[in-house]
Amino acid sequence: MGEPTAVTQPSHDPHCIFCKIVLGEIPSARVLETDQAVAFLDIHPVIPGHTLVVPKAHYAHLGDLPDSLASHAGSLLPRLCRAIQAATGAAGLNVIVNNGRAAGQTIDHCHWHIIPRFDDDPVNWPWPQGEYLGDELSQMRFRIERELGEVPG
Ligand code: 5GP
Ligand code: ZN
Repeated sequence: MGEPTAVTQPSHDPHCIFCKIVLGEIPSARVLETDQAVAFLDIHPVIPGHTLVVPKAHYAHLGDLPDSLASHAGSLLPRLCRAIQAATGAAGLNVIVNNGRAAGQTIDHCHWHIIPRFDDDPVNWPWPQGEYLGDELSQMRFRIERELGEVPG
């Protein structure tokens, strides 16, 4: 077996609105920028202060990101959370990634949302939650571990 074939990933997609923001072709209210990522205010905030953390390279989904880029973007979150919470006076924050259309992703350039939250704000949360029946939980655990390579083949 040879080395795995490297998948070449375009660093920018000319049709992607977040790539245009990264490149400065579309204006944005940036609050933080590094060599690999940028954070800017969401133009349609769920709550004012809603901020997006966007890797500069174009990857559609979280699962496409190289670990190093995911780590870098993730490393910016604690500082941004502290700043956004202090600046807005929020009582809490939601930090989420919508990954894929079914999960509500509308811009196919991976990003984190940081959304300030207040007691009694109008955001519809939490999501409805269910139950596992019988051995469904252990079956699900097995399937995910197998995909992760954590179960001996
Ligand atoms: P998604 O639904 O893909 O998780 O989130 C995309 C987010 O990008 C939405 O919350 C939307 O309001 C925001 N957005 C879309 N277009 C623009 C834009 O041109 N500028 C900024 N700042 N945010 C945008
Ligand atoms: Zn893009």
